Amino acid sequence: MKCPNCKQNMNPKKGIPFNQYRIDGFSCSCGEIYFDPEQAEKILLLNKLKKQKITAKLGRIKSNLILRLPKDVETALGLEQGEEVELHVENKELRVVKI
Ligand SMILES: [Zn+2]
Repeated sequence: MKCPNCKQNMNPKKGIPFNQYRIDGFSCSCGEIYFDPEQAEKILLLNKLKKQKITAKLGRIKSNLILRLPKDVETALGLEQGEEVELHVENKELRVVKI
């Protein structure tokens, strides 16, 4: 990929600090940095979700209670149908952790 600043070839770089996270992207000797747009978008979405109170509806399929996650949560955490997650139950709290 070419640097939009100086038109030189940019080098792929992993773990570039972005907000409080590290993501992949490209860097140029002129100091220009280009973040992977998909990863950057996920982090911006995560930050947005952190500031919100998120509600989700419980459904039921046969004897199982189903937790329906909002699309933004799915996208931000990169969750997929069929993927296993860890559940932590404490008092009235349920924490869902991506493995
Ligand atoms: Zn450059």
